Amino acid sequence: MNKNNSMSKASIKKIIIVGGGTAGWMTAAALAKVIKTTNCAITLIESSDIGTVSVGEATIPQIREFNQMLGIEENDFLNATNGTFKLGIEFINWKKTDHSYMHPFGGYGINMEGIQFYQYWLKSLQYGENSDLLSYCLEGTAAKNDRFTRPLNVANSPLSTMNYAFHFDATLYAQYLRKYSLAKGVERVDAKVTKVTLKKDGFIDKLTLDNGEEHGADLYIDCSGFKGLLIEQAMHTGFEDWSHWLPCNRAVAQASEKAATLNPYTKATAQAVGWQWHIPLQSRTGNGYVYADSYISDDEAVHLLQKNMKTKAIGEPNFLRWTTGKRRKAWNKNCVAIGLSAGFVEPLESTGLHLIQSAILRLFSLFPDKNFHQTDIDAYNAHTDFDITRIRDFIILHYKATQRDDSDFWNYCRNMEIPQTLSDKMKLYQANGRIFRENSELFNEISWFSVLHGQGIKPDSYHPMVDHMPLDEMLGHMARMRGTITESLKRIPSHKEYIDNVILKSK
Ligand SMILES: Cc1cc2nc3c(=O)[nH]c(=O)nc-3n(C[C@H](O)[C@H](O)[C@H](O)COP(=O)(O)OP(=O)(O)OC[C@H]3O[C@@H](n4cnc5c(N)ncnc54)[C@H](O)[C@@H]3O)c2cc1C
Repeated sequence: MNKNNSMSKASIKKIIIVGGGTAGWMTAAALAKVIKTTNCAITLIESSDIGTVSVGEATIPQIREFNQMLGIEENDFLNATNGTFKLGIEFINWKKTDHSYMHPFGGYGINMEGIQFYQYWLKSLQYGENSDLLSYCLEGTAAKNDRFTRPLNVANSPLSTMNYAFHFDATLYAQYLRKYSLAKGVERVDAKVTKVTLKKDGFIDKLTLDNGEEHGADLYIDCSGFKGLLIEQAMHTGFEDWSHWLPCNRAVAQASEKAATLNPYTKATAQAVGWQWHIPLQSRTGNGYVYADSYISDDEAVHLLQKNMKTKAIGEPNFLRWTTGKRRKAWNKNCVAIGLSAGFVEPLESTGLHLIQSAILRLFSLFPDKNFHQTDIDAYNAHTDFDITRIRDFIILHYKATQRDDSDFWNYCRNMEIPQTLSDKMKLYQANGRIFRENSELFNEISWFSVLHGQGIKPDSYHPMVDHMPLDEMLGHMARMRGTITESLKRIPSHKEYIDNVILKSK
């Protein structure tokens, strides 16, 4: 065998990615990092005439693993994308109006005797204690005080484990990854795909572009957005519609000038129909209103969005429309859909980019050769379905577990049937406050607890083993934990100071 070219005959030698939004460039960058483009050519086709959705500014902590995999230097990336830090999401008016709670990225307190801390806290409520849940979580407390630090080297302190994500400009992030990918040998073609030709067996044969070129590959990645140009329009793979559980199908987004305070968290404020996001970046504020067009018109929606903006609007409103749900098979024959083409659940918990990241990692695990083994494809699709359906359930919980009755929209959500998987989870929690994270589902017990409790679901009791610790001892531990958080907070600068002194100064 020639040692300089040890690639098997069946190896994939050419990959085409259609679409240059965040999904396309995240996929291109990750593939180019792992695959030598001299062995396997990677071409990304995007149309600057069509453009991208230009949203997707809030992330969850897993994005850091993706950037680390690429070897991206975090300060450099934050400066290039106008990025800021995010410690969680504040949900305002979801349980009822004039109420808010936080879903922070960190845990609460310290688990004791192998039992989650929150079980002790639930018991304390029954004994008349009403300590604020957030006072046990450094990320949540820092967020509410507009402070931020990366982990500090302080032994046995929550400061050493600060967990965080980012807010950034989605268009700049795609551009950043584009530069990264091109430097690693990815070829970019700016043209519109006008025709997708299939072979007799249904595999994609080639793409025809509006500049007259024809491009063929072994593997096609469809990152063409909601329409699913290859996976749906050409291959008719099918779509599972979840609109009856998540009725919001529209959004209008518009930037505004930067705010005086740089909140290190996303604000998600429920309205009479749907909800509004507020995302502070270094240079501007991202605003958007997610709504259901059967309950409110586009004109009313944009009016509401602009009325609630805290700073002066910039540019024009950007309207987006979708059907909530997922592609029946994200991987069909020689085509893998990644990003909006694979499915979409609304951005309430900032999971869009995570779904892209997890799809890419799954593709790596099950990367095909030209034989395209059906077992690999089936495994990929089963894991993809699990990933998105559990996220779907988590989002539905925010709508279902509401006490709001001030509009037809909330009355529908409160009374709607929900998936069995979610109903089982809610029943289990209601009985004894127990939550089980299933397999590799994205959100852990703490995230589920934050939202179950935040939305006002009260368990009938707490974990019975908590009673084995004497009450005084338990309350003593809890008081010390709160003290630790209060002391730790004193060492954390404001988010703005951190951006000015650490991020901007690193330029
Ligand atoms: C309202 C809203 C808010 C969101 N907020 C968040 C958030 O806060 N956090 C988060 O993680 N996710 C969020 N998301 C999801 C996130 O925006 C997307 O997952 C992400 O932007 C990926 O989009 P995409 O690349 O799949 O599609 P797009 O951005 O639509 O890109 C599609 C690409 O395909 C190209 N294309 C299409 N047709 C053709 C053709 N015929 N020929 C050539 N090229 C073509 C386009 O030019 C474009 O480059 C949000 C989504 C929406 C709708």
